[in-house]
Amino acid sequence: SVRVRIAPSPTGNLHIGTARTAIFNWLFAHHHSGTFILRIEDTDIERSRPEYTDNIKSGLQWLGINWDEGPFYQTQRLDLYRQYIQTLLDKGLAYRCYCTPDELEQMREAQKARGEAPRYDNRHRNLSTEQEEAFISESRIPVIRFMIDDDREIVWNDAIRGKVSWKGSDLGGDMVVARAADSQDEAFGQPLYNLAVVVDDIDMKITQVIRGEDHIANTAKQILLYEAYGASVPEFAHTPLILNQEGRKLSKRDGVTSIDDFKKMGFLPEAMANYMTLLGWTAPDSTQEIFTLEEAAKVFTLERVNKAGAKFDWDKLDWVNSQYLHHLPPEKLVDLIIPYLQEAGYQDLGDRTWLLKLATLIGPSLTRLTDAVKESRLLFGETLNFTEDALNQLKTTGVKEILQEILSKIEAELTEETAKEIVNQVTKSQGVKKGVVMKSLRAGLMGESHGPDLMQSWVLLHQKGWDKLRLQQSL
Ligand code: GLU
Repeated sequence: SVRVRIAPSPTGNLHIGTARTAIFNWLFAHHHSGTFILRIEDTDIERSRPEYTDNIKSGLQWLGINWDEGPFYQTQRLDLYRQYIQTLLDKGLAYRCYCTPDELEQMREAQKARGEAPRYDNRHRNLSTEQEEAFISESRIPVIRFMIDDDREIVWNDAIRGKVSWKGSDLGGDMVVARAADSQDEAFGQPLYNLAVVVDDIDMKITQVIRGEDHIANTAKQILLYEAYGASVPEFAHTPLILNQEGRKLSKRDGVTSIDDFKKMGFLPEAMANYMTLLGWTAPDSTQEIFTLEEAAKVFTLERVNKAGAKFDWDKLDWVNSQYLHHLPPEKLVDLIIPYLQEAGYQDLGDRTWLLKLATLIGPSLTRLTDAVKESRLLFGETLNFTEDALNQLKTTGVKEILQEILSKIEAELTEETAKEIVNQVTKSQGVKKGVVMKSLRAGLMGESHGPDLMQSWVLLHQKGWDKLRLQQSL
C-alpha cells in the first residue's frame, strides 16, 4: 500500500514550497487510500528550533493537511542511523576520511586553479593501516565517507520528469554520511541528511518520494545508498519549483514565503490549499479550479503534475480566495473578520447581530479578509471626514433642507423598509428626484460619494446612533 511522507527541516517557518509538496503527498496518499507521514528532519542541531517545528505542524493543520503517522523526529532515531552507518563500514562500502578542513580547502583551491569543479578526490579511500594509525596518533577524528563509483550512471524513472540519469562523477566524490565524533572514543558522529533520509525511508517503508526538484542530485546519491543496503528503491517524483513573476525561485525577497505570511494577509486556509494544489498540477477537467482537498484527491495523479516551474500568480490566488470568501456563511465570516477590525482599532464593534449585518453587507466586496478593514471603514465612528465630492454635494442648494427633513423623520427604530419610506416621503415633499435625496443622504451619512449599500449602511449606523450625529455634523 502507498506510504508517502513530508520531511521538513525545522530551520524556519512552514515554507510555501514545503506546504505545496505536503499537499501533493497528501493528495497522492488519499487518492490511493494510503498513509501520509510527517517526519521532522532536525539533525541540524544548530539551525533547528522547536518553535519552527510547532509552526510547521500548526501550518499544515491550518491548511487541512493531517498526517496519519508521526511526527517522527530524526534526533530520536540516532541509534538506528548508527547501525546503518556501521553496516556500510562492515560491508566495506564506506571508510574513514581523516582530512582536515585545511587540507580539503587546499584540495579545492588546487582544483579551482586547474579549472576543475571542486570535489572530494577520494584520497583516503584506500588508506593502509599504518597511514590510519599515523592520523590517529595526530589526534585526528575522521568522518565517514560512502564510496561513489565515478563510472556509475544512476538512472531512474521519475513519476513527473520521466527518465532521469545522473553520472556518478557529477556527485562530488565519495560522500560524507557521518560527521566526525566529538572524541576519538566514538566510532563516528552525527549522520548527514542523505543517510538519515534513506534509513528513514527504508524503515518507514516509503513507496513514493515526492519532493522538490532541488533534491534531484540527492536522489542520485540516495539510490546508491538503497543499493548498498539491498533495499528496494521507492518511486521518485520531483515537483517543479514555485517561481515569482520574473520566473525566478520564489524567495524571501518576494515579500512572502511562509504560510503564516499568507494567513496574515487574509487568505483562507481552504483557498490557500486549493490554490497550492493548482501550483503545478491541473485537474483532468482543466475548467475545474475550485475544489476541496478531498475532491482533488479523487482525481490527483502525478502524471498531471507539470515539469516546468509553477509561476506564483497573485491574481489567481485572490480570485480563488474570493470564491471561498463569497460562499462563507456570515456567521463564519464574522468570526474571521473580527480580529482584523480589532487590529485596525475600530471602536465599539457592536453586538453579534450588528456584526452579522455588517458581514452580510461587505462580504461580497471582499477579496481578502484584510479588505474588511477598508470595506467597513465608513461604518464606524460618530464623526466623518468628508471628501471633496461629498462637501460639494452638501453645499448644493436644497440639500440642507433634504437632510433636515430626513433627520426629523428618524425614529427610534429603523429598518431597511422604513428607511426607504423616509427617502420616498422626503423625495415627494422636497419636490426633487429620488437620486438627489440618495446622493445627499450618502454624502451626509457616509461622507463620501461611493460606498456600500446605502440603506443597509444607514440601518447599521442607526443602531449605533451614529446616523443622527453624522447628519447633524453635515448640516
Ligand atoms: N529535510 C528535507 C527538506 O526539507 C527533506 C527532503 C526530502 O523530502 O527528502 O528539504
